[in-house]
This record gives sequence, structure tokens and C-alpha cells, in this order.
Amino acid sequence: CIFCRIATGEIPAQIVARSDHAVAFRDLSPQAPTHVLVIPTSHLASAAEATGEAGAALLGEVMALGVRVAAELGLAEAGYRFVMNTGREGGQTVHHLHLHVLGGRQMRWPPG
Ligand code: AMP
Repeated sequence: CIFCRIATGEIPAQIVARSDHAVAFRDLSPQAPTHVLVIPTSHLASAAEATGEAGAALLGEVMALGVRVAAELGLAEAGYRFVMNTGREGGQTVHHLHLHVLGGRQMRWPPG
């Protein structure tokens, strides 16, 4: 899994922050002036697998690191968007749970 290998440092990435069980790095193909991905360091295919207490704790840590990164990158005042594509119709292409943190421009709604 490509994101597992980013988490271990086997594949280079522009890491912006880490917590105990999560890591944040720049998206290779940014869709906004700031586009960071936050992943759990252990493999979970998607949010649909983040069940029970362990899943809740992991999602909490990923979201919390997203909030911290958004603040550290100066997005908090103007605002930003969290996206977690899940499964085929959710548009997920990399099957390791990840949170997109997007900011630096006006977001639109509804998403495509
Ligand atoms: P999703 O479509 O939600 O599964 O998002 C996958 C994201 O991973 C896309 O935005 C890709 O640009 C990004 N991505 C894929 N490979 C890499 C990589 N090696 N380093 C950073 N971002 C990547």
C-alpha cells in the first residue's frame, strides 16, 4: 500500500506533521493552494472499516491532526474543507483511509 510506505518513510513525501498514530503530508496533485492528506500509520482501507472503539479513536486522531495542520498552515481563520472519500461511489482511489485538508481558496457546494 502506497500510503503505508509513506507512513514508514519508504516512499518520500512532504511530511507536514505527525501524531502518535497519524501522519500528514502534501498531496502530489493539489486541488487547492493547500492540500494535505492525513492518514493513520496503521492500514485501514477506508472509513467504512473504522468501526468500534478503536475505529473511533483512530478517526478522532486523524481529524485532530487535520485540525492542527489547518491551524499551523494558517487556514483556520478563513476556513477550509475536510473530505474523506469512502469507497467506489465516494470517489476513493487510494485504499488506505485518508482525510483531505483543502484550503486557500473559496470552496463550492455541492461537491462533484
Ligand atoms: P482519493 O481519491 O480520496 O482516494 O485521494 C487520493 C489522493 O492521494 C489523491 O488526491 C492523490 O493525488 C493522492 N496521492 C496519490 N499518491 C500520492 C503520493 N505518493 N503522495 C502524495 N499524494 C498522493
